[in-house]
Amino acid sequence: MYDYLVVGAGLFGSIFAYEAKKRGHSVLVIEKRDHLAGTMYTENQDGINVHKYGAHIFRTDSDKVWEYIQQFAEFNRFTNSPVAIYKDELYNLPFNMNTFNKMWGVKTPEEARAKIDEQVKEAGITEPKNLEEQAISMVGTDIYEKLIKGYTGKQWGRPCSELPSFIIKRLPVRMVYDNNYFNDKYQGIPIGGYTQIVEKMLNGIEVKLNTDFFENREEFESCAKKILFTGMIDEYYDYYYGELEYRSLRFEHERLECENYQGNAVVNYTEYEIPYTRIIEHKHFEFGCQGGKEGSIPHTVITREYPATWQRGDDPYYPINDEKNNSLYEKYRKLADDEGKVIFGGRLGMYRYFDMQTDIIAALELVDKEF
Ligand code: FAD
Ligand code: UDP
Repeated sequence: MYDYLVVGAGLFGSIFAYEAKKRGHSVLVIEKRDHLAGTMYTENQDGINVHKYGAHIFRTDSDKVWEYIQQFAEFNRFTNSPVAIYKDELYNLPFNMNTFNKMWGVKTPEEARAKIDEQVKEAGITEPKNLEEQAISMVGTDIYEKLIKGYTGKQWGRPCSELPSFIIKRLPVRMVYDNNYFNDKYQGIPIGGYTQIVEKMLNGIEVKLNTDFFENREEFESCAKKILFTGMIDEYYDYYYGELEYRSLRFEHERLECENYQGNAVVNYTEYEIPYTRIIEHKHFEFGCQGGKEGSIPHTVITREYPATWQRGDDPYYPINDEKNNSLYEKYRKLADDEGKVIFGGRLGMYRYFDMQTDIIAALELVDKEF
């Protein structure tokens, strides 16, 4: 009899397992995939750490989170500065003076502001009600048409006019020449990839890979005094109230025998007609391209990311936190509140758009509550 069964060896489950063991509890971790680390998993392929489930860039504003994660890896100084390609034009992201200069030829913040204001006025938007209106009110119609409309439409599988505004509010708009995608105080990639973080957390803890909770539910339910479940909460309840919706993704990895394919870690393809949203070139996350000098890797690995409709059995990636799904989740959460033995955690158990830092914060909150 273990003190805890942890279902899922992603970041959330692994933090909990690590903290439980540290406090003297016995823990069994089960994971249905054939590897550790969940969605942030990286795999070393001939010297390149490949982000198997899409680009993962660690960032946080919290000293506590930054200190916590550094126990398990050393981070480099990577700054995410993606570019966007629309037809034969290339723009800097996030939307900043470099973008405005390329789009309109403007040079000063005042000129850029005037251009945006003029386009917002023409569109007649005063109170944005959806993502389309929100985007136009932030950056005007030209940028919306070229850099947002197509990308967002394919990413979420529906038009911007039917999506909530908050999705686009994640992106900064800057009146300075600064291509840093994030505003956080700390940012970087763990040198040597993400998987080592979970390997260190789970060091000395019993882990069973290729083990699905639902294939042996009764046995697993009776093998521990308490369970932390980081899989899908609706699946745990056998979809009693119906299915929560997700967006799924398909990743196409390719090794190329050239040193430098696209000159940047992340390139977004914003026109609707191109079926993938972005191509990532993994070596640039860890500066593996030094123009043939020491530290250079002669080949490269790229990944095309295709958005996909999610169906039961597919990998769930982005929860669709609209009103309908959020109120369905609330029903499951009420069931969960009545459980004595099972706790739900992580992006699937809590049905949240967690990035790694918010996942860590939520896991540490649970640790405080539980112990
Ligand atoms: P997961 O990593 O999903 O872990 C849950 C684990 O449970 C999985 O390994 C799953 O296989 C396992 N499991 C599920 N059901 C069962 C079952 N029945 N039995 C056994 N095991 C089960 N965050 C950032 O901070 N920066 C980024 O740049 C970033 N980019 C992202 C890009 C993409 C495409 C995606 C999808 C996410 C990104 N994130 C990013 C978010 C980040 O991946 C998550 O915050 C983090 O990985 C969540 O960890 P978790 O443990 O909550 O969930
Ligand atoms: N987005 C866009 N064009 C881009 C990049 C992002 O329209 O070139 C929109 C898109 O709707 C996306 C949202 O901005 O879902 C948030 O972007 P972010 O990069 O945070 O997406 P994520 O990391 O969640 O994939």
